[in-house]
Amino acid sequence: MESLIRKYDRPVPRYTSFPTAVQFTESPTWSEHRSLITELNRSEPASIYIHVPFCHSLCHYCGCHTKIVSRYEPVKEYISSLLEEISIFRSTLCDRIPASRIHFGGGSPNFTEIEDLRKILEALRETFSFSHETEIDMECDPRLLTEEKINALSKLDINRISLGVQDFDKNVQEAINRVQPYELVEKCVYQLRERGISHVNFDLMTGLPLQTLETLERTLDLTLSLCPDRIAIFSYAHVPWMKKHQLLLEKYPRPDLLTRFEMAERASSYLQNNDYIAIGFDHFALKNDSLAIAQETGKLHRNFQGYTDDGAKTLIGFGLSAISQYENAYTQNTTDPTAYRQALKERRLPSARSCHLKEEDKIRRSLIERIMCDFRVNLSDFPQIPVPCENLSPLLSDGLASFDDSRKVLLVTERGRPFVRLVAACFDPYLEQVENRHARAI
Ligand code: SF4
Repeated sequence: MESLIRKYDRPVPRYTSFPTAVQFTESPTWSEHRSLITELNRSEPASIYIHVPFCHSLCHYCGCHTKIVSRYEPVKEYISSLLEEISIFRSTLCDRIPASRIHFGGGSPNFTEIEDLRKILEALRETFSFSHETEIDMECDPRLLTEEKINALSKLDINRISLGVQDFDKNVQEAINRVQPYELVEKCVYQLRERGISHVNFDLMTGLPLQTLETLERTLDLTLSLCPDRIAIFSYAHVPWMKKHQLLLEKYPRPDLLTRFEMAERASSYLQNNDYIAIGFDHFALKNDSLAIAQETGKLHRNFQGYTDDGAKTLIGFGLSAISQYENAYTQNTTDPTAYRQALKERRLPSARSCHLKEEDKIRRSLIERIMCDFRVNLSDFPQIPVPCENLSPLLSDGLASFDDSRKVLLVTERGRPFVRLVAACFDPYLEQVENRHARAI
């Protein structure tokens, strides 16, 4: 295995979209963007993403689009812009369309004061129709989750919280500048459940400074003691040329390539031996969780938030840097706060980049999603796409992928699961042009 790990250690997209975000180039005109909205099918549900790019303290591994603030005023101003953006979308759309899910991501969305969260949800309810099936979930920093806040979140009908945990080891937490003892997370989990927010997810990380197989095992033990519904284990992407603050981590030893691989493997077997079902290549869920059921029934999807049971084909993102997905295009909002406010002042949506999908892109998008979700794809469902024999050949000979007897179904083997992104990449004709802009495959 060691030689395979070294051989395939290369930058590959995570395929949360296809084409991937590095392909977004042209800036759409307002009239093009407006057409994407007016052409939306009013009866098809959309998934809504709200980006809150503020945190109270910088985690030194952070790869997100966020800003560190010590006062609430900048957040307040941002929320009023966000409400303006939702209102422009509403006046463009005219009718309401069903919302399948509302996801608050960041940053630390729970930095937002409850009154402002209420205003956002009210604006969304005026723009989209909610039903009892509309799930509202939020990424939360446990350090900002007081009992009072948890109580108020439950009254806003938030029904799933993802806690950023990363690692419970004190030394690792100090190295990454994110100290949050186990007792703090434990208290949050109990209070969330007590207040009726029964769905709790944990985000963990491997590859962090000072992390070892022993610290990871201890973190997993402590995680199991709190029994989260879902666990995502992300591999730390060290990209200091893009995120300069990550240089602060270079004074600490970090697990090498083989140890990182071993960490992911051990975490996977450990969780699967303790009642969790592996979902895709980096998520785990309890058997009765909707994500596990979606996988079991072939209804697992992948979008910008990772693996999901949300089948909405349209994703509408609000806020700085947020991405929207339409049938024929992606658009991405500007990351520049001044340009963001200026666009809103001119009563247009603040998109700065976009990508128009050709018919072939849409077919490849479905094909790649099936590989990433199911670890298999029936290529006869995609007759328009030539089989990339040359790209697949090394993966086939190394036993990471195989064909069934009919030679129509491409399978990612058990051994090849950690390398699934490389199998998907065989079908990505854009990959070569942007090779240095993705995190490593392992
Ligand atoms: S809480 Fe999340 S978004 Fe904020 S600095 Fe830490 S890693 Fe980045």
